[in-house]
Amino acid sequence: MSKVDLDLIQKYDVKGPRYTSYPTALQFHPLNEGEYQKAVSTSHRAGGPLSLYVHIPFCRHLCYYCACSKIVTRDKSKATRYLSFLKREIEMQAPLFAGRKVTQLHWGGGTPTFLDDDQIQDLMQFIGSHFDLADDATGEFGIEIDPRTVDAERLACIREVGFNRLSFGVQDFAPKVQKAVNRVQSFESTRDIVEAARKLGFQSVSIDLIYGLPFQTRETMVDTLRQVIVLSPDRISLYNYAHLPERFTPQKRINVIDLPRADEKLSILALAIEQLTTVGYRYIGMDHFAKPDDELARAQSAGNLHRNFQGYSTHADCDMVALGVTAISQVGEIYAQNAKDLDEYEALIDDGRLAIIKGVEIDADDQRRRAIIMALICQFELDFAEFAERFGADIRDCYAAEIAALEPMMRDELVQIDDSGIRVTDKGRLLVRNVCMVFDRYLGEVQTSRYSKAI
Ligand code: SF4
Repeated sequence: MSKVDLDLIQKYDVKGPRYTSYPTALQFHPLNEGEYQKAVSTSHRAGGPLSLYVHIPFCRHLCYYCACSKIVTRDKSKATRYLSFLKREIEMQAPLFAGRKVTQLHWGGGTPTFLDDDQIQDLMQFIGSHFDLADDATGEFGIEIDPRTVDAERLACIREVGFNRLSFGVQDFAPKVQKAVNRVQSFESTRDIVEAARKLGFQSVSIDLIYGLPFQTRETMVDTLRQVIVLSPDRISLYNYAHLPERFTPQKRINVIDLPRADEKLSILALAIEQLTTVGYRYIGMDHFAKPDDELARAQSAGNLHRNFQGYSTHADCDMVALGVTAISQVGEIYAQNAKDLDEYEALIDDGRLAIIKGVEIDADDQRRRAIIMALICQFELDFAEFAERFGADIRDCYAAEIAALEPMMRDELVQIDDSGIRVTDKGRLLVRNVCMVFDRYLGEVQTSRYSKAI
């Protein structure tokens, strides 16, 4: 990746979606179980492999930067009750997908390791008895780990129940930054856990970081990244902290004057990209870095990288069935989201119904636009001939206005367009979200204001 052009980033510094789906969740409207079941039965991927997402909403401590949907509690009985409803949801969903192999499974949250070892084991067994899980060699089974909640012994249990990929939430190693966001964890304890993970044979270790946190400077970021590089994770995510206390109440505990200024934040990002790429990580796109031999980097080179609600994925051919409160499924041509409120989720399951309350069906125009956006954001290029073959139409006829709207980005050398397709240049990679936004038919002023800034 070429040197980061800060002037260009400032020029294109607008709010926009992260495109973990298209259309995005802002287009979701009330949806019922019947519409979801119809999408399941008509999915063109029917019979194909499946990806499962399981949401565990509980956290023991509140991180002040948090913008996730979670329940902060120390009451373990809440997890016991939740698991009983989750199992009933699994019993209802599993028959809809009988005979389909689960090649990808991910537990996220919240904090999945809020569950104790017995609960993790029991839930994994239950999932395995209702869905057909691939074996350890062919399945990708990941779990998000809060390093403060596990030790080597717990990791051994997590490996034994079948997980083979770990994602550690770190955010920053600087003590002052950690204290300001109420998430204190030492480098040494994280290092011990990561080393234990390697010994236990986890195939992939990923570390999540955030830039733009209080008291972060270029110097603290250099130190944090130096420590992260010592841990040598296969993947690194570096997310932008968007300070929106009016929308996310925990952020009210962060003092705005402690945040790095906009120009400082940008230079923190620029140096982070430089530091990581210099030691060999590849910038995959949208906050993600991976070693060149990691599956994400290889999938990108092979042109089959995919993006979903968990970020980048190598499982483009899967329907995704999401289980638990707030979880969003993508099956066939529909997105379907479960109730966000725990009481509502439980009431629906108690009624013998799936907990789906909203979503969106993806019409023919959205399918084409989604294919364009996903090609640009995952592969950084769109091949006109492939588009024509898949959709039986010339993109230059369907989306002439959008292609014309890319002109200024061509002049700024963010994209190149010729007869064969559109390519996002090295310079444009950090701004790929802006390129995608040109093809988003829902972006009006009101919509755009609901998103965070691109960088
Ligand atoms: S950031 Fe993660 S661990 Fe922290 S409160 Fe939010 S969901 Fe929980």
